[in-house]
Amino acid sequence: MYTDCILGKDYFYNVIEKIAALIEEKRDYLTELDAAIGDADHGFNLSIGFREVSKKMPEWKDKDIKGFFRSVGMTLLGKVGGASGPLYGSFFMKFGEPGSGKTEVTFQDLFEMFKQGVQAVEQRGKATVGEKTMVDALKPALITFEKAMEQNLEAKKVLEVFIDAARQGAKSTIDMIAKKGRAMRLGERSKGHLDPGAASSTMILEVFLECFPC
Ligand code: ADP
Ligand code: MG
Repeated sequence: MYTDCILGKDYFYNVIEKIAALIEEKRDYLTELDAAIGDADHGFNLSIGFREVSKKMPEWKDKDIKGFFRSVGMTLLGKVGGASGPLYGSFFMKFGEPGSGKTEVTFQDLFEMFKQGVQAVEQRGKATVGEKTMVDALKPALITFEKAMEQNLEAKKVLEVFIDAARQGAKSTIDMIAKKGRAMRLGERSKGHLDPGAASSTMILEVFLECFPC
């Protein structure tokens, strides 16, 4: 069913370019979110990482999809400070794995890419749903992606419900008490605030829909 939706390297290149621009645009907003329950650096951290990615991207044009995302992930890992650096770094390093030796993948592969990316975040951060982290956006989104494919929804619709689930998941962090990361120290006082990482990861996923060609 999804084999006629082919996603080429240009799609992924475009996505990363747009994410970098979006992070720049939302940098202060993300930092404000982090000011409420963390140390006010989330937007700043991501901006440093994605600026470096933007700068280096032209050098990665000839890589296969795996190599491209490996470079994105390594750059984030090296440049982004704080907890989110290793988490997003691992996400993108694993995300490209199903694109090994390929310059295009199918929509089915895209699911596999998100699956590996989300698993990498879970393995690295050891957070589960309900602990007020980016996992609260990423995990429900991934589960919804799989269910939507089982229901044979058309590819674009699958991505739409995927994004809706991420948004809802991010929103659900407002009422949560942080159990992981810096915000954990606040205990009850972390309640009433949107988790910055859940907000940034939702924004990042949204770009995959915005650029979607099928
Ligand atoms: P730091 O907290 O070190 O300053 P950032 O401000 O860049 O790092 O990122 C904070 C975000 O990282 C949080 O909002 C949360 O979503 C995410 N985060 C922190 N710890 C974890 C974890 N163990 N697992 C998943 N996400 C985490
Ligand atoms: Mg922070």
